[in-house]
Amino acid sequence: MAKDRFDQGRNIMKALVFNGPRDIRYEDFKDPARTIDNAVIMQVNKCSICGSDLHIYHGDQIGKTNYDAEQHKFCVGHEFIGEVVEIGPDVHDLKVGDKVLAAGGTGCGECTYCLTGSPGKCRRSTAFGLSNDMNGGQAEFVQIPNADQTLMRIPDGINDEQAVLLTDALATAAFGINNTGLKPGQSLAVVGLGPIGLLGIELAFLRGASQVFAIDPVAARRAQAEKLGAIAYAPSKEAIGAIIEATKGGVHCVFEASGASSAVGSTVPLVRMGGALSFIGLPQPDVALPLNHILYKGLTVKAGIAPVPDLWEPLIPLLQSGRLKGAGLFSHEMNLADGAEAYRIFDARDENVIKIMMNVT
Ligand SMILES: [Zn+2]
Ligand SMILES: [Zn+2]
Repeated sequence: MAKDRFDQGRNIMKALVFNGPRDIRYEDFKDPARTIDNAVIMQVNKCSICGSDLHIYHGDQIGKTNYDAEQHKFCVGHEFIGEVVEIGPDVHDLKVGDKVLAAGGTGCGECTYCLTGSPGKCRRSTAFGLSNDMNGGQAEFVQIPNADQTLMRIPDGINDEQAVLLTDALATAAFGINNTGLKPGQSLAVVGLGPIGLLGIELAFLRGASQVFAIDPVAARRAQAEKLGAIAYAPSKEAIGAIIEATKGGVHCVFEASGASSAVGSTVPLVRMGGALSFIGLPQPDVALPLNHILYKGLTVKAGIAPVPDLWEPLIPLLQSGRLKGAGLFSHEMNLADGAEAYRIFDARDENVIKIMMNVT
């Protein structure tokens, strides 16, 4: 067992390490020592690659970090599940051996938001593995600061795939669909059919959407959207025209789940007067919204990063009862050692990839 290996005091683990844009390598990295009293060391069992990991893969700027500039190496990955192997003295709700899932990021652990269980709202919140501020969990081991708020014991009736989705994608999809304010009987369009967009379709129907339209250039993703009951189109002016026609003036709500500028640009034409737009994709740098059309159409626009742990409580019973499935998204299962190839496939959208699960142990 890797737990024993950790106890033996070896100080080198294997991890996917950022060496620069398009250069993520499976290589040796220093085992994380527990340096924070409210932290745990987690042994990672499974992890996944997210669309936001591709931003650093491309060397895009995120926040203050310019990934094209010289970087110290860091472990990537913010979607991972595993087991607690060491706990700090200020951790109260967890014990060694707990099987846990982690929120994709965490806060300072000291402010009101952190202390009341919403570290996503912390002004000092940081994602795992998106910069050298905090190492990520596409690794054998990872330190989890603020562990009581950042980790959740995996509840009964939640499978590994669902647990990995709860670390980010499913919480982000729920946050984005909630932000549309969709009411039963209304129509919704999802733009961008990555895992978050596809989960958005399922969640929109659970909220009572009468019709869900789905737009993406990749045929396999459109096919998955249609399996979920959506009416899917490749992006084009004609597709927007057909959706406006079918809804007699545009959908009530648009959920934009890619951040690509062409996708963002399609949202305002798709929505009806007085409708709502919700954005959760990390935007490409050149993205712009036409404020004049937003104003004249009287649109509500919401955007943000999901406060992941806040979404767990409403989502877990839906998963446990089987009303929400989150199934069919993991098109690939690979080993962490093949992480560089996993990134290449995910980035190139080869092999009809939707989402890749990586086994660590
Ligand atoms: Zn993610
Ligand atoms: Zn805080």
